[in-house]
Amino acid sequence: MTFEALGLHTSILKALTEAGYTAPTTVQAQAIPAALQGRDLLVSSQTGSGKTAAFMLPALHKFASAELQAGGRTSNQERQGARARGERPRFQAAQPKMLVLTPTRELALQVTTATDKYGSQLRRVRAVSILGGMPYPKQMQLLAKNPEILVATPGRLIDHMESGKINFDQLETLVLDEADRMLDMGFIDDIEKIVAATPETRQTMLFSATLDGVVGNMAKRITRDPMVIQIAGSATKHENIEQRVHFVDDLSHKNRILDHLLRDESMDQAVVFTATKRDADTIADRLNIAGFAAAALHGDMHQGARNRTLDALRRGQVRVLVATDVAARGIDVPGITHVFNYDLPKFPEDYVHRIGRTGRAGRNGLAISLANHAENMNVKRIERFTKQLIPVNIIEGFEPKKSASAARPSSRKPGGWKPGDNRGNAAKPGQRTFSKPGAPRKEGGFGKSTRSDDAYGARRSYGDR
Ligand code: AMP
Repeated sequence: MTFEALGLHTSILKALTEAGYTAPTTVQAQAIPAALQGRDLLVSSQTGSGKTAAFMLPALHKFASAELQAGGRTSNQERQGARARGERPRFQAAQPKMLVLTPTRELALQVTTATDKYGSQLRRVRAVSILGGMPYPKQMQLLAKNPEILVATPGRLIDHMESGKINFDQLETLVLDEADRMLDMGFIDDIEKIVAATPETRQTMLFSATLDGVVGNMAKRITRDPMVIQIAGSATKHENIEQRVHFVDDLSHKNRILDHLLRDESMDQAVVFTATKRDADTIADRLNIAGFAAAALHGDMHQGARNRTLDALRRGQVRVLVATDVAARGIDVPGITHVFNYDLPKFPEDYVHRIGRTGRAGRNGLAISLANHAENMNVKRIERFTKQLIPVNIIEGFEPKKSASAARPSSRKPGGWKPGDNRGNAAKPGQRTFSKPGAPRKEGGFGKSTRSDDAYGARRSYGDR
């Protein structure tokens, strides 16, 4: 399958060639033809599967065709011309043709950047992000340009709708990106309100890790005869990401293991996930003291600081990002070789999103969870969700006092995972597979924990939602 065969406009094909894309991904090959026919879509796929292009390329194709018909003249130019002739009132709300709703600011910015890339050859298509945390005057300036595409987080968008700065009378395409996450984050009422403000004639495309439960119910209400696309490809199963779990006795043991693994020569960049914003800050500080170029990323940081941190990560100046779930969602940095679950996620879905920060753009990645023995049940819940067993790994010199098999009897039972089950490089207890032989081991890590909850099996395990 080629992009040409999908019938996309030549200006888009040119942009894709410049981006270095040679063939559509599975989700693109399935979604683009249906979207081009104007069908509503319900797509279950993960970040990393190429879903942004799956919804954005058909939309850009429509813009490109309209541009051609209008002789390169856009509704925005017509609006400006009319304004110059004094035909319109002074204030006009922005009237986008396409709206993409995302759960987080980072994902919104990523979608906007991807849109600029895919639409680089289109003369008049402007994509703008409307995000919480961004100064209102700046957003008013952006909206005054009447962008064709809005990429927004729901809360801030509602503010602008209510103050009359945006109306959706002209909206043709609505995309809900990571819909499951938006619902998890409590955006259901905002989404319903936004959808109600859009024309019923719109095309709706919903992307989500799962199409079951609440997401499925909402999807039924807001789509018409949708084509359902379930992608169970390697990106969803994360077959290119090796997963491991290390059982730890206490926080000090956990910190020593993390410190050791971060010093591995195979590591380029890493994301360390914590349950709380405070821990993200504390651990980033500790890692910096220990000599790693580390930075925290969480929802209490101003958008400017978050953007600077992400830029530094993309440029390779930050090697270890210590982040909460919400802040790290949508990060797409090919240099991330390792993901660490310093704290296990509250929801198994978050595990899938977390590990998807590595193994980007067809590379391999390593996802390591550091779990307390009491969290064995949580590891099993993740395994049930992903339908993959996570091999237990023990590093020589860092063995837990309790044996791993005591923590995970099921993984040793017949019918459990076998070496070679979806992970050729699964480690056996006692086998040190991660560090290169003879790699220097620095004991002691970044010091003893100052967290008061060393028996942290009982602590809450969720992020900045
Ligand atoms: P997404 O799932 O949209 O976040 O995309 C994940 C990554 O895959 C991004 O870095 C995209 O630039 C890249 N990508 C998307 N589509 C393709 C394609 N057809 N060929 C190569 N890379 C792609």
